[in-house]
Amino acid sequence: MDYTIFAVAVFVVALLVFGGVVLIRPRRPGAGRQAPPAEGSGATATAPAAEEEGERSGAAGAEPQAPPAEAPAPPAAPEIETPPPSAGRLVRLRARLARSQSALGQGLLNILASDTLDDDAWEEIEDTLITADVGVTSASQIVEGLRTKVKVLGTRSPDEVRAMLREELLAQIGPDMDRTVHTGPHQGRPGVVMVVGVNGTGKTTTTGKLARVLVGDGKSVVLGAADTFRAAAADQLETWGSRVGAPVVRKDEGADPASVAFDAVSRGVDEGADSVIVDTAGRLHTKTGLMDELGKVKRVVEKKSQVDDVLLVLDATTGQNGLRQARVFAEAVAVSGIVLTKLDGTAKGGIIIQVQRELGVPVKLVGLGEGPDDLAPFDPEEFVDALLEEA
Ligand code: GDP
Repeated sequence: MDYTIFAVAVFVVALLVFGGVVLIRPRRPGAGRQAPPAEGSGATATAPAAEEEGERSGAAGAEPQAPPAEAPAPPAAPEIETPPPSAGRLVRLRARLARSQSALGQGLLNILASDTLDDDAWEEIEDTLITADVGVTSASQIVEGLRTKVKVLGTRSPDEVRAMLREELLAQIGPDMDRTVHTGPHQGRPGVVMVVGVNGTGKTTTTGKLARVLVGDGKSVVLGAADTFRAAAADQLETWGSRVGAPVVRKDEGADPASVAFDAVSRGVDEGADSVIVDTAGRLHTKTGLMDELGKVKRVVEKKSQVDDVLLVLDATTGQNGLRQARVFAEAVAVSGIVLTKLDGTAKGGIIIQVQRELGVPVKLVGLGEGPDDLAPFDPEEFVDALLEEA
């Protein structure tokens, strides 16, 4: 009897020992779950590993080796865009030119195609040109040139009419003017461009778009927010700059614009940048106040580096008013190039001819929309071809 009790006791103890071994045996890592992907993102790969580590250390008391479960996410790097290069931009944007300018081109072609060209017809041609802001002097020169060609030609095919109008318009626009924007580095210094113009013409936008053009062409750019009268201008410029990785030098609202411009150029020189573009104030408190200020900005910058281009931004839709502004700016600072903005929104592209004649300065860039890459180097032939394009 004692022997039976002893045997039962041994059996029960053996059972308990066996059961205990099975129950407390550590699980194999990864058993019963899916392994994390070999090349998963940080978040998906860390979570299962951390869970597993918790289990392991709880069960077997192992030293934790894995990184902490909630590793702080690295700050998101700002996304730097790569704008398209400037080559071929006017071709890409040609449809916008054609849309707004075809009224002028088609109007002229229709009159010129009529069988008889009497004095009334020539007057109509001249009026059409003047309405498109070509200017009286250029309009009468174009009409003179056309009258001579028509006499020589006798009968006229549509192609001949188109060709002679093209030739006359091109002659007025000046296909041989130097339209280079001097943005390149020289003698170890960056190309320095000052952008001037009345508020609302698209000055800050143009500065930002020009930075994109240059970055797209592989240049390094520093921007100067010297329009310190308008805090929003510096913010606007900073947005443009950050999108393409171009640093923006700015100061508080009301700071001395010349010192901002000087600092921007200094930074460009120190960092070995290719180009510095300085956006300036355009608010006219009093006419002389602003003009004096711009003259000062230029003089101060020139203590550091020469200013290679002074670009005057003009809104093509403002006609004679824009021309008046242009004259005032040209007197104050030696304007070396014109940027004609909002050409997409007007049929008065003739302003290109008039402003060049008035100031003796070439149109170098044209704005053809509000998009970031809607600024193009001006090409006279492309422009005239778009003007005369079939509707
Ligand atoms: P700023 O006061 O001279 O600096 O003018 P902004 O750069 O702030 O521009 C004034 C407005 O003109 C903005 O709404 C721009 O988007 C717009 N603008 C600038 N250039 C062009 C252009 O070429 N075409 C069109 N349609 N709008 C433009």
